[in-house]
Formats: sequence, structure tokens, C-alpha cells
Amino acid sequence: MGGLVGDAARIAAAGGDDGASVFSILVLAVLVAFAAAFFTFLVRARIAREARDAAVAREMALRRQFDAVMSSSRDGVLITTRHGDVLLLSDTATQILGVTRTEMLGRSIARLPLRIVDERMRPVLAQEVFAPRADDTVPRIVGVPGRRGTDDVRWVQVSSKLLTGEEDGEPITVTTIMDTSGLREAAEALNRSDAQFRKAMQNAPVGMALVDLEWRLMEVNRVFAEMMGSTVVGLRGTPFSALSHPQDRNAEDDQLQRLYDGFQTRFTCEKRYVRADGHVVWAVLDVGLVRYAGGAPDHYVVQLRDTTDDRMTSELMAHRALHDPLTGLANRTLLQDILQRLLSDPDDAQVGVVAVDLDGFKGLNDRFGHAAGDHALVHVAGVLRGAAAGRGEVARIGGDEFIVVVHSDDCAAVMKDIADAVHDGLRTPLQIKRHQIRLSASMGFAVADDDIAAGGPAALLGAADGAMYRAKAGGRGRTEAYDSRVQGPSESESALTLELDDAVRRGDLVLHYQPMYDLSTRKVVGFEALVRWQHPTRGLLLPGAFLPLLKDRDLAVVLGTTLVEQAAEFLAAQPDDQTWVSINVSAEQLGNSEFADSVLTAIGKHRLSPQRIVVELTEASLVAPNTRVRHELTELRNAGVPILLDDFGTGVSPLSYLRDLPVSGVKLDMSFVAGIPEDPAGARVSRALGALARELGLATIAEGIETEAQADFLANCGWRLGQGWLFGVAQPAQTLLDMGLDTGIFLIDPRPRDEEGVLES
Ligand code: C2E
Ligand code: CA
Ligand code: CA
Repeated sequence: MGGLVGDAARIAAAGGDDGASVFSILVLAVLVAFAAAFFTFLVRARIAREARDAAVAREMALRRQFDAVMSSSRDGVLITTRHGDVLLLSDTATQILGVTRTEMLGRSIARLPLRIVDERMRPVLAQEVFAPRADDTVPRIVGVPGRRGTDDVRWVQVSSKLLTGEEDGEPITVTTIMDTSGLREAAEALNRSDAQFRKAMQNAPVGMALVDLEWRLMEVNRVFAEMMGSTVVGLRGTPFSALSHPQDRNAEDDQLQRLYDGFQTRFTCEKRYVRADGHVVWAVLDVGLVRYAGGAPDHYVVQLRDTTDDRMTSELMAHRALHDPLTGLANRTLLQDILQRLLSDPDDAQVGVVAVDLDGFKGLNDRFGHAAGDHALVHVAGVLRGAAAGRGEVARIGGDEFIVVVHSDDCAAVMKDIADAVHDGLRTPLQIKRHQIRLSASMGFAVADDDIAAGGPAALLGAADGAMYRAKAGGRGRTEAYDSRVQGPSESESALTLELDDAVRRGDLVLHYQPMYDLSTRKVVGFEALVRWQHPTRGLLLPGAFLPLLKDRDLAVVLGTTLVEQAAEFLAAQPDDQTWVSINVSAEQLGNSEFADSVLTAIGKHRLSPQRIVVELTEASLVAPNTRVRHELTELRNAGVPILLDDFGTGVSPLSYLRDLPVSGVKLDMSFVAGIPEDPAGARVSRALGALARELGLATIAEGIETEAQADFLANCGWRLGQGWLFGVAQPAQTLLDMGLDTGIFLIDPRPRDEEGVLES
């Protein structure tokens, strides 16, 4: 169009006379050209407008669809120009970034009020964050202000891509923004709980292990390692089964399979493991399976609790329930159970007991030896069984003391019958070596009336005992019945109690000393002091006959003090200054420090080394030591006086008492020794207790040794010292001093264990 008008103008400028007509033609042409041009312009503009309207409509439709897609997406989208001006921002993006669309659109990203930090909380520029990056595979993680205040940061994942424009060639940057706060918190929580779990595991008081699906130890804690006698590092990667006792190797296999297959969520089993040092430990295993979120098995979590102590205790209990190993009769425990049951569950029948005590048994023992004594006891047991003949239960409750329990409608008559039958049976002489021995027994019996029944087994046995003492006082081989009408419940006892009172204050109670031998050198290293009462009419009484009557605490304390002084004098009179004396003390005599004072006074007075006086306390009396008793024992131990646990193995106390009390050594109860070597339970328990005591660093003393076989067996399973009739009975101080025994040195360490040692931890 411009060209045509230009031509017309040139022609007009070059015009002459006939220029007027030429000019009009030119003007017309120009006008026509203009009109044509204008028309073309109008048409083109309309087409363009229509096209633009369609494009706008399409763009709006697309935008609505786009917005719908954007707003339903968890990710926000931001589109900027190459220069960083914001072209588009989805709703999600506005929410994540905490901005409004109006403050963003059309503005440069560099000028926006965005506070962005990197993972170390250092501020970063928005234009850097949203700039396209060549490597888009690693998204950036940045923090933007959260909704919960100034310190709150929401972590977002940003990835930007540069897109080259298709038609107009203008490139744009598309950024997706994903809020990862939730994911990140979950991951952190996982990390945190994992760390907490590991910490808890390391410090758990039970053994714990993480075990892989091949049943190999991935991680174990300290307790677990100690239980196995190994180290945490040493156990990592070890097949768990390699620690098993060979016989228990596959004990958990089936259960593991069931766990793996999802039939159970955890299981428990008890089995044996072998420690690195070869010792066997029992343990209860508690196994759970940890699965991935999808349910696939990942690893096992195992808890292990050492039950060796429990096992040993239950073996002990089983052993205690057994009968007297020498005679096969019920023992005292069983007798108690029987009486308890009968008395607490009364029926129409009566309950009564016959107390049987051999006459002159000690003399027989002294004259013919312990083997003969045993032979006699077995014989008497047979006579008693025959006499009872199914009418009563026979028990042996002490050296030569037996009890027959009768449960019958006519108790007294049956018991009288049985007693007569016993006297008859004993009339047949017993062949010992080349001698014909005549045995006899004194018997007393009692029926449980209401008063006695209320006092339980002890009252019934006490009543029969009282009758038996009257029989003994009347001469050998007699029977007396307890009769509440002619004799108060404790008349004979209270008579003896009164006498005892005098005897204690007069000092008639004396100590006899039984030598204690070093089992390996067979030399005397010490003595056990055993109290005796030289009774004017009853003869030499053993402690079982009078100590139970010593109910007055003050009197017991006086006796204790007198005996400590006696023992100290005996020690001072010894030719050597290394042998020691162990003194028995009951828990009732302790608590007010009088006993400890008397020991310390005697030590000072006779200038004795404190290790030469040793204190023996029965395990039973220590079941629940009160703090004052504990204090007094600790006081003694701290002064260097060793403390021994007597009758070890008979108490029901948990073995942990051993390490909690100030104990320096243990004395194996003679009931275990009696069964050696024939009785497998006795032998097994002796061995186990010996190992335990040595493990705890305690001195080991076995008592009641009557045969060489017992001495050998005990020495072989670690019992260092021993006493018993094999070596000698308890004798008066002067007799022993006159004998001039072959002595050796074995002092008991009052503090056998390091206070900081493994055991205390
Ligand atoms: P215990 O301390 O267990 O004493 C061991 C008992 O076994 C003693 O009986 C001892 O004579 C006896 N005996 C020693 N060797 C053998 C043996 O080879 N075979 C057999 N069958 N027995 C043997 P005893 O002297 O009758 O003492 C009985 C209990 O009286 C003692 O048991 C002790 O608990 C208590 N006792 C003894 N003396 C005292 C004391 O001075 N004070 C206190 N509180 N209690 C004492
Ligand atoms: Ca003792
Ligand atoms: Ca004992």
C-alpha cells in the first residue's frame, strides 16, 4: 500500500499542463488504494480478533483445567520467565511458600518477600533456589517459614527445569515444590526411636540381641555378651546356634519358622548355652520378629534372661523333697509338709506322732565308728517301718531321731502299739563286726488335741518330744504318752528352760570343737565350736535338745558372749597362731551389736588376729535379714572377721543373697554330703553348689563327711575344707590340746570379692 501512494505522489510531482487530469487520476488511485488497504486491514483485524478470542477462550479453559490439576496435586508449581518474573503460581505453591498469588504474579522472584534457608538454616536467595539446574536428579531441600510461629520451618523439596518455548522461542522455568515436612519428621522420628532403642538395648538389664534372618547375631548388648562369657564385638556376626548347648541346638527352630510364617508374633523357650569358658548357662529366650512396613520379615529381636539360678533352686527344691538318703525315710521337710497338711485339714480321724530317740547312740558311734552307726540307723529304720506297717509314716529328722506320724480314729492306741512293736523289734541284737549289739530307744507320743493342733506341727512334735524326754529320764527303752491333764503343754520343757537359765548363767554350757581339715593336705586348719550342756542327770545334751528352749533373747545374748570368750581362750591356748574357731550364732542373737562387741572384745583381750574367729550363720536365718542384723555382720566383716553361711543349700533364699550379704564362705549342708556318691542328686547339687561358691570367690567347707569316698568326691568338685566323723567328732578343748593335732594354715579371706567386681555390678 505505501508503494502505490508513493508512485502516485511521484507522478503528481512530475506533472505539466495536462497535469490536472493526471492529478485527479492519481488522487483517485490513491483513494482506491487507501480504501483497499483499509478494507484489507479491517478484514485482517477481524480475523485476528476472532483468532485471539478463540485462543483466549482456549487458554482460559486450559488454565481452568490446569488449575484444577494443580490444586489437586500435592506439589506446587511455579513458572517464571527466563529473567525470573513469576508467570504462574499454583494454589498449592502459594500455600507451601506462604504467599498470595497477587503479591507474586508478574514480579521478579528476586524481589519477593520469601525467607528461605538451606538445610543448615543459612539464608539462601530465592532466585538461586528456583533457578533451573542442569542436574535435576538431586532435588534441593530448603526450609520456608512454617505455620507455627517464627521458629517453625517447613522443609520443601524444589526442582526446577528450563523449558525452551516452542513457538515464540521464549524459554520458561518450571519449578515443582513439594512439602516434605511430614516425611522428614517421620524419618527423624524413626532415626530418633532407632537411637533410643539402641541406647535402651545397650543398657538393658537383660541380655538383648538383634539377629538376622539367617539367625546370626547382628548386635548384642553387654549383658548378653557377659552371659556368654564373651564380648559385644566378639559376638557380632556369630551364628546364634553356635552358642547353644549341643543338645539344645535346634530347640527354637520350629518356633522360629512359625514366627517367620506369621503364625505367631513372638515366642519364649528355655534352653542351655555354653559360655566361652565352657560353663553351661540356662536362659529363657524371648524372640520377636521385626517386619518392614510392607510386612516382609526384617530381623529378630531376642531377649535372654539367665535362669541358671532358678534352675539350681528348683533342683534344690526337688532334692529337699527327697527322702533321707541314708535310710530312705521321709526327711524333716516332708514330715513338716505331712503334719501341716493333716493339721490344717482336719477330718474325723486324729493326728498323732511318736518321737523315737535311740539310747546311747553316740557311744556306739564313738566305739565302732560312723559306718557302724550308719548300719545301726538303717537297721532301726527297718524296725520302725515294720512296726508302723502301713499304719503310719516314718521320718528321720536328725542323727538318731525318728518320728512316726499316725492318722487314725484311735490314734493313742495305734501309737502305743507301734511303740511296743519298736521295742520288740529292737530286741533282736544287731551284728556289728564281731559284736552283738543291743539297741534300745526312748519314745514319747502325743495326739493333737485342739490346743496342740492350733500350735501346728511344732507344737505336736514338741509335745511328743517332751514325753520322750520323760521316757529317757526314766531309763532306757521306755515309752511315755503326753497327757495334758497331768502335764501342762510345756511342763517338761519349762522345767528344762528354767534349768537352762541357771546353766547359762553358771557357765555350765561348754564348747566342744570339731576339727576342720584342708581336704587336700589333710591338716587341721580350724575348728567348729559346738555347744554342749553337761546336764547333771540327763548327761551330755546336744544343742538340739536345749537351744530351741532358749527363747529369752537376753539369755541367748549372755550365752553367746560366754561362748565367744571360751572360744577365744581355746585359741589363745593353741600352740600355733593360725588355726581358727568358727562360732555358731543364731539370727536372734544378732541385731544389737552385743555379739559383734563380744567378738571384738575377745579379739582385743587375747590379742588374736580377727581372722581367727569365724562366725557361722544358717542360711535359713538369713532369708530376710533385717538391716540391723546385716549391719552387725558387716561390722564384723569389716573388722576382719569372716562370716560363713551354714547349712548352705537348704534355704530357699535366692542365691543372689550370697552376693548381697557380707558372706566370706559357705558350708555345704550335710544332707547333700550324706548321699555322696550313690545319690545322684546329692552329688550333682554338691558339685553345682561348689562351682557356684567358687565362682563367687567364697571359701568352701563341706560338713558331715563320714567316708573317704565323700571326702574325695567333695575335694574333686572344689570343696577346699571339710569336717565330719571321718576326721573326728567334736571334743572338749583339753582333749584336743592334749592330742597335739597336725595343723596347717588356711585362713578365710573376710572380703573374698572386690567391691567393684563383676558380681556387684
Ligand atoms: P551345725 O552348725 O550344722 O553343726 C553340725 C552338726 O553336725 C553338729 O551337731 C555336729 O556334731 C554334727 N556332725 C558333725 N560331724 C558329723 C558327721 O560326720 N555326721 C553327722 N551325721 N553329724 C555330724 P550338733 O553339735 O548337735 O549341733 C547341731 C546344731 O546346733 C548346729 O548345727 C548348730 O546349728 C547349732 N549349734 C551348735 N552349737 C551352737 C552354738 O554355740 N550357738 C548356736 N547359736 N547354735 C549352735
Ligand atoms: Ca555350724
Ligand atoms: Ca551345718
